[in-house]
Amino acid sequence: MDPPRLGSAHRILSALDTDEQVLRFVEAITSDVASIQSELLQQILADNADVAYFHRHGLFGVPSAEDFHSRLPLISYQDIELDVARIASGDEDGHAKILCARPVREVLKSSGTSGGRQKLFPKLSDYDPEFLVLNRVARPFNTGKSLHFIYVRNPEVTPGGVKLSSGLSGYFTSPAFRNRKIDPATSYTSPDQVLQCVDYIQANYCHLLCGLVQRDQVVSVGSVFASTFVRSLKSLKCQWRDICQDIAEGAVNSRIVTSLPVRNAVNAILRPDIELADAIRKECCGGNWRGIVRRLWPEARLVQTIITGTMQQYVSIIDMLTDGLPIASSLYASSECSSLGVNLDPVCPPSEVLYTLFPCFAYFEFLPLENRLSAPDEDQGQEERSFVSCDNLVKLADVKVGDEYELVLTTKAGLYRYRVGDILKVVKFHNDAPQFAFVRRAGVLLSVDMDKTDELELHKAVTQAWNRHQEHSEIRLVDYTSRVDLSSQPGHYIIYWEAFPDPQILELDVCCFELEESLSVVYRRNRREGSVGPLEIKLVRQGTFDKIMDHVVQNGGASYGQYKTPRCAKDPKVVSILESSVIAKGQARYMQTST
Ligand code: AMP
Repeated sequence: MDPPRLGSAHRILSALDTDEQVLRFVEAITSDVASIQSELLQQILADNADVAYFHRHGLFGVPSAEDFHSRLPLISYQDIELDVARIASGDEDGHAKILCARPVREVLKSSGTSGGRQKLFPKLSDYDPEFLVLNRVARPFNTGKSLHFIYVRNPEVTPGGVKLSSGLSGYFTSPAFRNRKIDPATSYTSPDQVLQCVDYIQANYCHLLCGLVQRDQVVSVGSVFASTFVRSLKSLKCQWRDICQDIAEGAVNSRIVTSLPVRNAVNAILRPDIELADAIRKECCGGNWRGIVRRLWPEARLVQTIITGTMQQYVSIIDMLTDGLPIASSLYASSECSSLGVNLDPVCPPSEVLYTLFPCFAYFEFLPLENRLSAPDEDQGQEERSFVSCDNLVKLADVKVGDEYELVLTTKAGLYRYRVGDILKVVKFHNDAPQFAFVRRAGVLLSVDMDKTDELELHKAVTQAWNRHQEHSEIRLVDYTSRVDLSSQPGHYIIYWEAFPDPQILELDVCCFELEESLSVVYRRNRREGSVGPLEIKLVRQGTFDKIMDHVVQNGGASYGQYKTPRCAKDPKVVSILESSVIAKGQARYMQTST
């Protein structure tokens, strides 16, 4: 039996207050990763002995680690969809023990915005100490307040009595959050009533208002994902007049903030302050948004938000709005397991962000990229999935620097060898623990013929094409998406761009040409041979991507705080929002003959 590393890590977890304790925890958890993982796997198998899922795979009683590795298959969402649906319907009331031995009374909904549709994942009832510790390890300062744009949705309850929520909403509406230890010197600028407000517009307005009236205490600004941060700040453009009036009068506008508890909580921190209102008015009225964050929050030293993966798109606009404040991309998390890892060097440059997966959070395995015969996306057929073998799965302690892998998870709540769909690259080790760069979501985004363009290839091509034209201008690419248009032959790619602050007439034809030049060799060969048609770029009106976010959140059940722009527009309503917002377009004309 391995030494009780997991136990000692958990003991440290329960008392993480001082920086020294945090450092001790990080050292303990990143040393002897193999033992901690093996102990965690044994614990998960023992806790979940005799669940129906194990029986289905011929495992009875407490499976051994060898049984786990030899008998349990690599799975995607389709393999457990019916199990989770049964759990969500409340079937476990009859102690069905479907995936997990403990009754599951809460199910987390993924945002469904990066990988397609929403998925449901079982969650154990209490908030894991891991989730809380992750936030503590990632907390950058011990003094000063944080203006954090947090948006939640009301959790739903299924007819079977199971709570359905997003990871973020679940936490911010949970007793664990309500009963947390509050230190007024380091708290959020928004009162809990605002953090828990389910109306996006009211919450956004109040976050800005509360952040502005406490501007001298604000040391960090942020949101979970960078896209939310950008949208929240952009709204200042329309809201600063009302906000200044509220600050001058010392009372929140009841036409905008209709919720009485939210209004009362915000009014409690307001007092008439004409001087502050004038100072804010002066910064906002000229329409100069460069460095607006530093001007409005002069003590802010850090932006705290995730800027890796699909979020790297927003780094340039955040740099513009904050005039280059450092960005801490601290957390790597997902609905499958809440907490996955943390960035141990949070204030590093955006291109160097690495996440350390804490071995006590989940049992991690890795599918080497060359062994991934297919991506775990929604459209995959059963036949194709069954070819993916477990034989080459690599354990956390055994991954190799320089290699790329798809993350595979086994969790306490009952996911076993589940393909998350994130591609990670090992960059280095801290003690025994590998540190990963987030590369991209798995899967092909765009394909017409033999060409296959993934999220990262598209991102690089878009960024290169944009930068060649706009690098030295004040205009930023706010957001983009894409789709394949097969309505005319040959099919072709369409890329949609939204610019901020003011869309100008860009040389879109030239941008199309440059974007195509940055796509893969296969794409360019197909283009020259005529099996793929000329790429189009369509510039859309300001606010279009906000409309898409509103549509997806309101119709899909994701929360604003968890939303990620779909980089490929498949939903017909999203395509119709895009098409009805086009203000200029360009098309590639020719393809160079060299590859
Ligand atoms: P959801 O479960 O809907 O909240 O989405 C979880 C997914 O968000 C993960 O599987 C990743 O694809 C993405 N994600 C979460 N944290 C990060 C991060 N730090 N960097 C890049 N992508 C992330």
